[in-house]
Amino acid sequence: MLTLGIDIGSTTSKCVLMEDGSKIIATGLKIGGLGTEGPEEALEELWAQTEYTREDIDRTIVTGYGRNKYEGADGEVSELTCHALGGRFIFPDLRTVIDIGGQDAKIITLGESGRMTNFVMNDKCAAGTGRFLDVMANILRMDIDELDECASHSEKPASISSTCTVFAESEVISQLANGVARPDLVAGICESVASRVGALARRAGVTPRVCMSGGVAKNSAVRHALERNLETEISFDPMAQYFGAIGAALYGYRQLTK
Ligand code: ADP
Repeated sequence: MLTLGIDIGSTTSKCVLMEDGSKIIATGLKIGGLGTEGPEEALEELWAQTEYTREDIDRTIVTGYGRNKYEGADGEVSELTCHALGGRFIFPDLRTVIDIGGQDAKIITLGESGRMTNFVMNDKCAAGTGRFLDVMANILRMDIDELDECASHSEKPASISSTCTVFAESEVISQLANGVARPDLVAGICESVASRVGALARRAGVTPRVCMSGGVAKNSAVRHALERNLETEISFDPMAQYFGAIGAALYGYRQLTK
């Protein structure tokens, strides 16, 4: 049985094709959410990896920020459900998901059986989200995926005291002008995201095993800063940005087999 999960995020579209709710066959990821070419381009990338076509799919489920207006699916489901399902697929003993996306951060806690027990979300402020890193990378004229390598050369992370992205942006510009080393600035930027998300996670309650999902999970400097902040190990899987899409494909499979 083939199920397709599509996660239309605020900044990035992801999709995953699964067989029998147990095997990932193909994936697609493109920048751009609903109202852009992102979802279709991500699907094109996925179809290019498999012999199957749209006609072979038994069920398609959409999730994410843009899920309500997407017309190419059989059903939709919330991101919280999907991140919990996708996270558990990768880490069966998972109890806490820290999802940092392009526009929000969510902490989802799970009981032993995997049922969601609590969640806390920041969607009001760009600090502590991928948006903060996007803005800072832009100022530093770096690619988003260069940040963690750069931060690894830091000897003394810069302190970014502003909690507001707009003020933090001015602070980074002035520290750059004052000759603060780039690795120290980047490390300080990553620590700033971690301290915002750490505070959010403490509100939700953190039980191991903890993992990160969302695009920002790929930044090891944020992840390690968060581990220090929460004094707990945080698991990472290269599929972290696909957890929502995996969860959607699994949800579709559950509906078919229930
Ligand atoms: P959404 O679902 O809200 O679109 P995602 O979970 O797909 O969000 O994550 C997108 C965010 O992840 C963007 O802000 C992007 O800049 C960030 N991102 C992607 N790759 C990296 C990376 N290697 N390091 C840090 N951030 C990243």
